Parts: sequence; structure tokens; C-alpha cells
Amino acid sequence: MEKEDSQQNQKEKELTNLESLFGSVLDNLGGDRDRQGLENTPLRVAKAMQFLTQGYDQDPAAIIQSAMFAEEYSQMVLVKDIEVYSLCEHHMLPFFGKAHVAYIPKGRIVGLSKIPRVVDVFARRLQVQERLTNQIRDCIQETLDPMGVAVVIEAQHMCMQMRGVQKQNSVTTTSAFHGEFLEERTRQEFVNLISAKLH
Ligand SMILES: [Zn+2]
Repeated sequence: MEKEDSQQNQKEKELTNLESLFGSVLDNLGGDRDRQGLENTPLRVAKAMQFLTQGYDQDPAAIIQSAMFAEEYSQMVLVKDIEVYSLCEHHMLPFFGKAHVAYIPKGRIVGLSKIPRVVDVFARRLQVQERLTNQIRDCIQETLDPMGVAVVIEAQHMCMQMRGVQKQNSVTTTSAFHGEFLEERTRQEFVNLISAKLH
């Protein structure tokens, strides 16, 4: 409880700091802070940024451990089309898209809702898509210890689309495989399943 209290205080202090810093950012960008619409913007941005980076305070392994069940199912389990919203660490601009996560159980399964939650925890940190993909794979592999894990993420990056090269509709795909998914046949089955329109 005491630890929670001090964590809460820490968060409030951080919020106050961020509010004043985002105020300076606005000033430097030439925003007229007396305008009603901008009046509370530094605080709103500070809260939004805290929310979007809250994954640093969360333990993804604990999420999986909280819902592991012994089960003799040994076929692929695939959770498809998980919405991903993250911030690229180079520009702090959003990248977003879909994640597809599969694993092959080895005597135990994990509650299905936990997989999107693990994706969220890692996505709500400053990221690059490549590392996000690997971290999701490694977390499931190390915690659940299945026969194999596969992760594919397809995402659009605002730092590409809104600035610089402005390649409007380009999609970046990353993948990470472990265990049985390193075998061509298993990986192909996974790719077929995520490409199929079954719903
Ligand atoms: Zn970027």
C-alpha cells in the first residue's frame, strides 16, 4: 500500500513536470496559450503521454502468469487482428496497425484475452516496431514456454506519412518466430491463417 502511495505521488509529480514542459513546447512552437482552446492543452498532453507510456509500469510476464492453465491441446492457437497503437521512439509520433500472435502449447495454455494485453503493455512504451515484435515473442516464449511462438505486426507510421518522405499508404511488416515456427511448414500454416479471410 505504501509503495502504491509513493508511486502515486511520483506520478503526480511527473504530471506537474510534464505539464510545465509541454507548456514551454507550446510557447516555442508559437501557440497562443491565452486562447481558450490551448489553455489546458499542456495538462491534457501530459496526461495523454503518461497514458501512452504506461507500459513501463506494467509487467507483461505477470499478466501471462495470472492465467496459465494445464491443457492437452497441441495445435496452433492464433489471435489475429489485435489492434496496436504505439509511439515511435525516434519522433514520438504514433504508429498503429494489427498484430497477429500464435503459439503451440506444450501442456498449458494462456487465457486468450491476455495476449492482446501483453501486446498493449509493450506498445505503450516508446518503441520501434522491430523491437516491439521481438519483445512480444520473447515474453510469451519465456513465460508460457510453448513449443513455439510467432508474431507478425503490420503498421503505418505517422512519422513517415505526415512528414519526410510522405509515402501515404505504406505499411511496414515485421515478424518474429521461435521454436516450431522456425520450421517452414509450420510458419507457412501460420502465414496462411493470418492471410485467410475466415470471418
Ligand atoms: Zn519515427
